[in-house]
Formats: sequence, C-alpha cells, structure tokens
Amino acid sequence: MKSKSGGVARPQLKPEYCNFQLEVRPSKIHRWGVFALEAIPKGKKVMEYTGELVSRKEGKKRSESNQIHCLFTIDPYWYIDGAVGGSGAEFVNHTCDPSLESRILKRRVFYFALRDIEKGEELSLDYHFGKNQEKVKCSCGTAKCRGWINLLE
Ligand SMILES: [Zn+2]
Repeated sequence: MKSKSGGVARPQLKPEYCNFQLEVRPSKIHRWGVFALEAIPKGKKVMEYTGELVSRKEGKKRSESNQIHCLFTIDPYWYIDGAVGGSGAEFVNHTCDPSLESRILKRRVFYFALRDIEKGEELSLDYHFGKNQEKVKCSCGTAKCRGWINLLE
C-alpha cells in the first residue's frame, strides 16, 4: 500500500480487537508504534494480538525468509503470524521497560496494561526474545534497557 506521496500508508488497527481507543503513529522507537488516545488503567485488557495460526515448522520458514518479525510464540507448537490478518497489535514496539504484558489464553494472545498508561503514550511490550534466537539490538532508551531485545539469562 503506497500513498500518493510515495510513502507507505499508515497502518490501521482493527477496532474490534481493541478495548480502548488506540492509533498507529510514527514512533521514536521504531517506524510505527501504537499510541493510547485515552488513559488506560493498570490491569485492563488493551487489545488482542491476532493473525494466522501457524505451526512451528511453518513459522521457522517464515522467520528465515522475512525481515519483519511478526511471529508471536504461543506454545512449543504454534505461532501467531501478525503479518497475516493482524489486528495492528503487531505494531506495538519492544521496550525493556514496557507498559503492556501479554497473556496467552487458549491459543489467543491478549495485551494487558502493566501500569496506568497516559493519554498520548506509546504502548510497548517486552518481546522476550530467547537468548538462542537471532540477537537483535535494542535502542528503546529506557533506564532499564538491557541493550538487546533478547533475554540474556
Ligand atoms: Zn531496551
């Protein structure tokens, strides 16, 4: 999808999977981010991470052939690929001091607020990449930044 100016069109969230008013905007962390358009109290369900349910084998194939990591590991056998039919939750960026946590319930992934989130704030999640996964440098800029998106221990 290209806009007339030649830039990439702003991705849209699917409101049916959002429990609060949210919007995708350019992010200081990485390309696009998801921002709160209203205050979100701690503990509330914020949105669902949707996409195509794919097997471990298929997921591995996709992650090797694709630069964009939208694969959410839900258990030892399945991934959800947010690049296919994603709710927009795949645009939530990683930080080492996140405002959201993910919870997996029956092969569905939900993001909950870890703390009170202010109107206008960018939402973030700790991706918890394994230490054996491809190492990805982190530049989230938070005081707790460990330097890598991967967990080191
Ligand atoms: Zn960081």
